[in-house]
Amino acid sequence: MKTIINVDDVSFSYGTQTEQALSHISLSVNKGDFIGIIGPSGAGKSTLAACLSGAVPHHYTGTFFGSVMVDGRDTCEVSLTDVSQIVGSVLQDIDTQMVASVVEDEMLFGLENFGVPHDQIEQRVSETLETVGISDLRDREIATLSGGQKQLLNLASVMAMSPELLILDEPTSQLDPIAAQNFIATLSKINRELGTTVIIAEHRLEELFPTADRVAVMDGGRIVACDAPRRVCRDMR
Ligand code: ADP
Repeated sequence: MKTIINVDDVSFSYGTQTEQALSHISLSVNKGDFIGIIGPSGAGKSTLAACLSGAVPHHYTGTFFGSVMVDGRDTCEVSLTDVSQIVGSVLQDIDTQMVASVVEDEMLFGLENFGVPHDQIEQRVSETLETVGISDLRDREIATLSGGQKQLLNLASVMAMSPELLILDEPTSQLDPIAAQNFIATLSKINRELGTTVIIAEHRLEELFPTADRVAVMDGGRIVACDAPRRVCRDMR
């Protein structure tokens, strides 16, 4: 099984802070895995997600120790653009991730900026909307979509770049339970059918546990357990 992520003894403090947001984190993820990251608020889930997407240390600077290898590349040594050729990110805040006013334009904007050849764009848009299950929304004004539909559009915009790996930071936190369930089910389908690796920080354990291969439990900037959901569940009791 090919390793796609290798985090080796990473510690990180934001800016000039002395307190570590991450402390001695090691994690290895195989291609095609579906990994959940759980833990209380402030545990370091978002910071770990930001390390995997390259946002730490490229966007959020600070004191960084250890290494994060994404598909064999050290995120400290390559640019954020290089990391984003492999990693697609979906964040918590639904609206700040969108730039256009119509669904199709949102998809086109990303693909054109990513440098996808023009003759491939139409097929990519159609296929990705189909994969994410929102083909019927193609001509809709984004302002008229529900939160769940908007977050699926964010996912589609990212999937259109054919990332090998998806990093999602609490993507369902603004969704109602049914939309959240639908979102996780869509991720599971993408993982199974396309083999895309998924790493998701998530607080809805009832949706995550039946889907994830492994769950990393974080507390105080550390990974305190990382195992199959069933075993993590037993140890939490
Ligand atoms: P979680 O996602 O589990 O809620 P975070 O990764 O957001 O945890 O936070 C871990 C620690 O890092 C917390 O102490 C938080 O206050 C701090 N932190 C998070 N983001 C920033 C930031 N942009 N600047 C400074 N400190 C931050």
